[in-house]
Amino acid sequence: MSTRQTLTLNDGRQMPQLGLGVWKATPAQAKASVEAALGLGYRHVDTAAIYANEAGVGAGLRASGVPREDVFITTKVWNDDQGFDATLAAFDASLKRLKLEYVDLYLIHWPAPSRGLYLDTWRALLRLRDEGRARSIGVSNFEAAHLEHLIAETGVTPAVNQVEVHPRFQQRPLRALHEKLGIVTCAWSPLGQGTLPTHPTVEAIARARGRSGAQVLLRWHLQRGLAAIPKSVTPSRIAENFDVFSFSLGDDELARLDALDDDDGRIGPHPLRMG
Ligand code: NAD
Repeated sequence: MSTRQTLTLNDGRQMPQLGLGVWKATPAQAKASVEAALGLGYRHVDTAAIYANEAGVGAGLRASGVPREDVFITTKVWNDDQGFDATLAAFDASLKRLKLEYVDLYLIHWPAPSRGLYLDTWRALLRLRDEGRARSIGVSNFEAAHLEHLIAETGVTPAVNQVEVHPRFQQRPLRALHEKLGIVTCAWSPLGQGTLPTHPTVEAIARARGRSGAQVLLRWHLQRGLAAIPKSVTPSRIAENFDVFSFSLGDDELARLDALDDDDGRIGPHPLRMG
């Protein structure tokens, strides 16, 4: 099994399926964890302007010695910067902090529908993509209605929708829509913010397999066709979370994890309440 499993985006580009998340990492932690992760073989890092650690991510990339073109870097425009001109300025500021000439994926962090700006924001992302400074563009936390509105008004389908997904909150209707529209689902909080590796079902599968709970969860994401961006600043966990390409779960194990789905399983904020 390859350690460089990638998903093909609807613009033809490749995104490594497993990446490193850095939410809540300080710039120094982000630098150290990105450097460690790239040394272990990760080739995908997920940050955002609001995480206030883009400078650390860029520094970690340079410290790793891994060529820039081999790494897939995602960042996101924050809600306060939505709107055409504000987004272009926010993007420039992100690139400056990252010390990069382009990002691989630029996302609208939340639809923030009460602001009424996500179409203008998307038009700015289209410009950035046409300029080649955001190689791919997408959204995050968009619900079906937001996606359908965006596509109807602009004719351009996001490459990715990054949303909360883990076995306790599987977002099946939204994922089915993504599949129909050709949007890759990237799962944030794939470990349930650290709560799921010790879930009894996950632990039971992990014990039987001689694997960790986190590894079982990440296998579920990979085998369900999802991208996932687990976060850790602990070197041993960064390594553990990437050591998932030499085993696979059986259909019965996947089914036991599928059965954990719960409409009330959401851990993070509801998209309609972030704005
Ligand atoms: P996660 O599910 O990745 O859990 C991270 C936590 O799990 C860690 O802080 C640690 O406590 C624990 N953990 C990590 N590895 C472990 C292991 N091997 N064993 C046991 N515990 C372990 O949660 P997250 O950080 O919320 O999500 C991952 C990434 O997704 C973020 O860092 C960020 O990049 C992205 N994200 C995006 C959005 C969005 O709105 N787009 C929202 C939340 C997170």
